Amino acid sequence: MKVLVLNSGSSSIKYQLFRSEDWESIANGMVARIGEPEGEVKHNWLTPDGSQDATQETRAIPTHAQGIDNIVACLRDSGALADVSELAAIGHRVVHGGPHFNKPVIVDDAVVEAIRDVVPLAPLHNPGHLAGIEVARQLFPKVPSVAVFDTAFHQTMAPTAYRYAIPEHLYTEHRIRRYGFHGTSHFYVAKRAATVLGKPLSQCNMITLHLGNGASAAAIRAGACVDTSMGLTPLEGLVMGTRSGDIDPAVLIFLWKNLGLDADQVDRLLNRESGLLGICGVNDMREIDRLAAEGNEPAELAIGVTVHRLKKYIGAYYAELGRVDALVFTGGIGENSAKIRARACGGLQRLGILIDDAANEATDARGERCVSADAGEVKVLVIPTNEELEIAQQAMTAVGLQ
Ligand code: AMP
Repeated sequence: MKVLVLNSGSSSIKYQLFRSEDWESIANGMVARIGEPEGEVKHNWLTPDGSQDATQETRAIPTHAQGIDNIVACLRDSGALADVSELAAIGHRVVHGGPHFNKPVIVDDAVVEAIRDVVPLAPLHNPGHLAGIEVARQLFPKVPSVAVFDTAFHQTMAPTAYRYAIPEHLYTEHRIRRYGFHGTSHFYVAKRAATVLGKPLSQCNMITLHLGNGASAAAIRAGACVDTSMGLTPLEGLVMGTRSGDIDPAVLIFLWKNLGLDADQVDRLLNRESGLLGICGVNDMREIDRLAAEGNEPAELAIGVTVHRLKKYIGAYYAELGRVDALVFTGGIGENSAKIRARACGGLQRLGILIDDAANEATDARGERCVSADAGEVKVLVIPTNEELEIAQQAMTAVGLQ
């Protein structure tokens, strides 16, 4: 059987097709600029001889339904999926499940309504997911759609971690609390890390750091999330590519009262114009690294602020957990930047965190690896994330086939 994973946004749909026997990824791609005069279809697939092939076309894709039609046509034409009946499930990434979901669910009308119910908490994401889910259910009524939520893994947090110190009615009436995101990634790397440690996940305490263009940290006790850095939305916490992360809320009041910015302007400023981009004008860590190496001061400051914030979260989560088996780095930066890993862990040997410079900097190293020195009690692990695979496997489990 095969499992199709869809990540439907407001104007794009990313997809990946897995073969469930060996969980090999046999095709992936995206349709982009849905609803614009010129859309784009990119498709990559595994050929029977094991090599990769790819196509890229420009054509109008007026609706999500046509987007999914295009994806199915690409899968069929490339031989990746002879017929939709080969699909055991379609796994849909859903960013916000609000307080409703702590695990993946097969989508029915009630689930659609529950996802719609939390659109005010994720106005940029959930409407696109709903469009993809509804089209998939209409086009393929015999294939179960499974919703896999970025928030689900964090639902084990206690109220002491998820409540904000603001008037209670904002929680009870408006559901304002910490939800956390990137949960599928934190869970995936935690499971993989437990395998590397050679212990059941339920016996592991970890701090997982997903450092990509979006970035978040999670504190995991006995395999369950007890705290995470993102909050009501993915804006809180670590410094990100274009998002500020933690900020004194009074800054918003200042922007409003003294600079006359309205809600949309503040939203854009903090979500799209801040973070690394705000500090040094660039949001790509590779470029920032290159600039910093040339002595560019704003680029060095952007790295410094990023590392300073990371260290604060490592310390805070260490204090929450008491005992830490592993510190896990993932995401584009976490997996690839030896410098960020080394600086985030620097000076933490009293906590049992000690990087092995040679292992950390090995340029040919890929995949899951340990980069800590033997003398360090806490294993520092690099675990490449694979959210699509996790969604596919969770979807298969939800339909009772795994
Ligand atoms: P992601 O959102 O997980 O794809 O991560 C994107 C981020 O990872 C961008 O800031 C990239 O610059 C960064 N990144 C990717 N490769 C490297 C690398 N070799 N060194 C430093 N940063 C990297």
